Amino acid sequence: MAIDFTKYIASVPDYPEKGVVFRDISPLMADGEAFHAATDQIVQYAKDKGVEMIVGPEARGFIVGCPVAYELNVGFAPARKEGKLPRATVKASYNLEYGTSSLYLHQDAIKPGQRVLVTDDLLATGGTIGATIKLVEDLGGIVVGTAFLIELKDLHGRDQLQGYDVFSLMTY
Ligand code: IMP
Repeated sequence: MAIDFTKYIASVPDYPEKGVVFRDISPLMADGEAFHAATDQIVQYAKDKGVEMIVGPEARGFIVGCPVAYELNVGFAPARKEGKLPRATVKASYNLEYGTSSLYLHQDAIKPGQRVLVTDDLLATGGTIGATIKLVEDLGGIVVGTAFLIELKDLHGRDQLQGYDVFSLMTY
């Protein structure tokens, strides 16, 4: 029987600020069967794409990407915030509502020509995943897909990802 994954998302009004409804994936992560089934859906999406490496941004991109990497028997590279990676990095900046932020990847995280799946928990404006894609491409990787548990349609992140394949398990 198909699982209604939205049952496992807690919608929190006015978090982190008034007027915003935060979609909290913690209940999904906390339920072994639902977490496994959600991971399987992304694995199904990715399995014929010749994925060789998965990259996810800090921090929930790790939670989504790592079990998929395990299942596909490929590696995982974390895209991290400033000052977290100990060796030589590449950097990509993106816009936040107020100001900018940056993500980093180790320079040797991706080999030129490698086929990469990019994962995160949620697609909103697309800024975070856009920066993650830029890091992969700066290192010569080929982004063969992007996968999310949740897509917030009203924020039009998908429009920022034209030319990329986008999979989302749930939409709000
Ligand atoms: P974007 O960069 O605007 O697409 O925002 C997506 C990033 O912000 C992801 O890394 C998410 O983890 C985080 N994010 C934004 N809104 C939410 C939410 O409602 N729930 C969980 N994470 C969110």
